[in-house]
Amino acid sequence: MSRLDSMINRLVAQRMILNHAADLVAPLPGPVLELGLGNGRTFDHLREIMPDREIFVFERKITASPRSIPDAEHVILGEIRDTLPFCAPRIGGPAALIHSDLSNGDPTDDLARKAWLSPMIAEHAGSGTVVISGHELDLADFERLPLPEGIREGRYYLYRKR
Ligand code: SAM
Repeated sequence: MSRLDSMINRLVAQRMILNHAADLVAPLPGPVLELGLGNGRTFDHLREIMPDREIFVFERKITASPRSIPDAEHVILGEIRDTLPFCAPRIGGPAALIHSDLSNGDPTDDLARKAWLSPMIAEHAGSGTVVISGHELDLADFERLPLPEGIREGRYYLYRKR
């Protein structure tokens, strides 16, 4: 498979899993936490499919197109390791959905991130919170949900807090 094919598959899978997660959390209150703005593609999709949700974006360096950047109140700038543990007063309660798109594809980085990020994510979850991650997380009180049909195992990880 060419890198182009792989990229197309990844983007199609990403849209499928975001749409699926939006349906799962429809009955839940709470904001969306978007970990990693990047060029703002998934942020823009999330605000389109969840127009009534507050979406807080976490990013160390804003490089997205100005059309895909939230207002200042919803951008939490800095290293996620530093900001995520202290954002509770700002986000105001457990998140409905946490989307973590931080992986650079390096398996060692993914393992290190799994160790520090998992407990931080768990702190912002309540019963029913859905978590999507590009790499595996270690979330004790969560069930691992099956991926929507058509997404290969290991491309994404989908969890829901019990
Ligand atoms: N979801 C985005 C999109 O659709 O455009 C792509 C996100 S990109 C793969 C990952 C982003 O996460 C990068 O912009 C990077 O700067 C940011 N990032 C990675 N690790 C981070 C960290 N520890 N703290 C803050 N930002 C981080």
